[in-house]
Amino acid sequence: MALHQNTAIILAGSNLGNRLHNLTEAALFLQRLSTKKMASSSVYESAPWGNQNQPPFLNQAFSIYNAFTAHELLDVLLTFEKSQGRTRKHQWEPRSIDLDILFFNNEIICTPELTVPHKHLHERRFVLEPLAELISDFIHPVFKKSISELYS
Ligand code: ADP
Ligand code: MG
Repeated sequence: MALHQNTAIILAGSNLGNRLHNLTEAALFLQRLSTKKMASSSVYESAPWGNQNQPPFLNQAFSIYNAFTAHELLDVLLTFEKSQGRTRKHQWEPRSIDLDILFFNNEIICTPELTVPHKHLHERRFVLEPLAELISDFIHPVFKKSISELYS
């Protein structure tokens, strides 16, 4: 049987409750999912996006290795968000934990429930900053530019 060793780049964000604790819980969860030691960026603080009338975010990017498909991984991440008390009543409301898939190998996925690479990553500083620390040479499969080029 072929061994699937997929690499997923995930951005965790929190702006509700004990933000650092929420990121730590997410990191522990992601490390348990990963088949080898994951890599993580530093923690960055950023102003809220969309609805500016909410607390600032802490963000951290992770690189994990796994045998899931991208859709399976999305399900696992959304279930974890729920287990951490994440609710969704309004767009851009404060969230205890948000786990987004930024990249999944070089795949380009465009389905109603999943868009990879993540739709707005190339235009958001709070995404590109931790990414530049983690995978600065990675080539964005749609824009064909490295993360450091997109960041600068
Ligand atoms: P956002 O992260 O944009 O603030 P949510 O976390 O509430 O919004 O996610 C809403 C939906 O976005 C999820 O239910 C999921 O189906 C969808 N989605 C699409 N692409 C992605 C992706 N790359 N990573 C995570 N969720 C995604
Ligand atoms: Mg999300």
